[in-house]
Amino acid sequence: MAETGRGAYGGRSRRRHPGRHVAGPHGGSRQGGCRERGQGRGEPLMRKSLIFFLKIGILVAAAVWLAQRPGRVTIEWLEHVVEMPVGIGAILVLLAAWIAASIARLWRILRNGPGAFGRSRNARRREGGFRALAQGWVAASAGDADIATKSAKAAEKLLREPSLTLPLSARAAELRGDAVASASAYKAMLSKPATELAARRALLTQAMERGDRPAALDHARRALELRPKADWPAKALAELEAGGGNWLEADAALVKAQKVKALPKDDAGHRRAALLIEEARKAMATGRPDQALQSAQAAFDLDPARVPAATLLARLLAKAGKHAKAVKVLEQAWRQSPHPDLAKVWGEASADQNPLTLVKRYEALVALKPGQADAHFALAEAAINAKLWGVARSHLDKVRELAPTTRAYRRLADVARAEKGEGPEVQAFLNQAMSAPADPRWRCTSCGTSHSDWHAVCDECGAVDAITWPKVGKA
Ligand SMILES: [Zn+2]
Repeated sequence: MAETGRGAYGGRSRRRHPGRHVAGPHGGSRQGGCRERGQGRGEPLMRKSLIFFLKIGILVAAAVWLAQRPGRVTIEWLEHVVEMPVGIGAILVLLAAWIAASIARLWRILRNGPGAFGRSRNARRREGGFRALAQGWVAASAGDADIATKSAKAAEKLLREPSLTLPLSARAAELRGDAVASASAYKAMLSKPATELAARRALLTQAMERGDRPAALDHARRALELRPKADWPAKALAELEAGGGNWLEADAALVKAQKVKALPKDDAGHRRAALLIEEARKAMATGRPDQALQSAQAAFDLDPARVPAATLLARLLAKAGKHAKAVKVLEQAWRQSPHPDLAKVWGEASADQNPLTLVKRYEALVALKPGQADAHFALAEAAINAKLWGVARSHLDKVRELAPTTRAYRRLADVARAEKGEGPEVQAFLNQAMSAPADPRWRCTSCGTSHSDWHAVCDECGAVDAITWPKVGKA
C-alpha cells in the first residue's frame, strides 16, 4: 500500500489528482467529491434546495387538498381492513415509493462498491511503487546500498513489474557487493527487450572484470546487434578482439562503428591505427610483406603522428628499396612528433650506410626541426661511429642542455674513453649518469609498467592502446 512506501522511505509530500487516480463510478474519493461540490457548484446547490422545498410544498398542498376532499381509501388484506382518508393514502403510497427507490440505490452502491475500492487501492499501490523506485535510484546514484536495496524490494512488491524494478535491484546488489544477486538480476533482465541492452552492458563489465573473455565477447557482440549506433559495444568488441590478437576482427568492429557514426572519425582512426600496426607486425612475422606494407600504410594514413606507425612503415619501405619514400614518411612524422625511435630509423632508412654519410643525414634531421634533443643525440651517435669525437661532444653537450638524462652522460663517457682512455673524466661522466634522471621509455598508462617497445596491448595488464611515450625534459 502507498502508506507502507511512504512510511518506510520518508516521503513527505503526497500529491493527488482527484478523479484521475480513483476511477470509480461514484466520482472518486470523498475528499475529491467534497471539493467538487463545495467549490464551483454553489449556484446549482442553491437551486437544488429551492427545487426540493418547492416539491415538499407541492406535496403538502396536494395532501391538504386531498384530505379536504370527501372520500376514503380502503385496503383489505386477508381478514384485515384498513380505512383512511384519500390524502393519507396518497402520502403512504409516495412514502412506499421513496423507500423502494432508496433500497434500489443502496443496492447499487453495495454492488459497485468493492470494485471501486479495489481500483483505488491498486492506484495507491502503484503510486507507492513508483515513489519507492524513484527513491531507490536516487539512493543508488548517491551510493547508498542500504536504502537502494530497501526501495528496490518495496518497488518489487508494490509494482510487480520486473522490467521496471530489476535494474534497480541489480544496481543495489552491485552497490552492496553481492555479485551473485546482481548477476542473477541482470540475467533476468536479458529476457526483456526493454532491459536487455542495459543488462548486456553490466554483464560485459562483470565478465571483463573476472577475465571471462568468451562471455564478454558474447555480450559485446549481442549488444552491437541490438544497438549498432551505440559506441560502447563496438569499442568493447574491438578491445576484446585486440586482447586476443585478432587485429583484423577488432579493426572490422571499429570500421562498422564508424560507418554508422557510432564513433567519431578521428577516434575510430586513432584506435584503428594501433590495431593495424600490430596486424602489419603479424604479417611481417608470418612472411607476408605485401600485407604488412599495406597495413602499415593504412595505420600511418589514419594517424601520421603515431610514432610506431611511421617507424614500421619507413622500415618496410626501406626494406623494399623505397628509401626516398621512407624518408618522406619519417620527415612527416618527425615534424609532428619527434621521437628517438624515429631518429633511429632515420639512419636505417638511408640507402648509403657509410658512417660519414650517416653523419650528414643526421645533420639534415637536426636542421629539420631545431632544438630537438633526440636529433642531437642521434647525430652524436653517428659521429661516434664515424670517430668524429669533437662533433659527438658538441652535440652531446646540446643534449645535456635540452634533456639532461642518463644517455647523454653515458655517451660522453664513451667519447672521453675513446679519446683519452679510462680516467677521472670517464668516471665523472659515469657518476653524473648515475644521478641524472632516467631516459624516457614507453609506459602503460593503465598499470604503469615501462616497455622497451610500443605494443597495442599491454602484456602486463591487457589494456588496449594504453602504452604511450611520456613527456620529459625540455625537448
Ligand atoms: Zn599495462
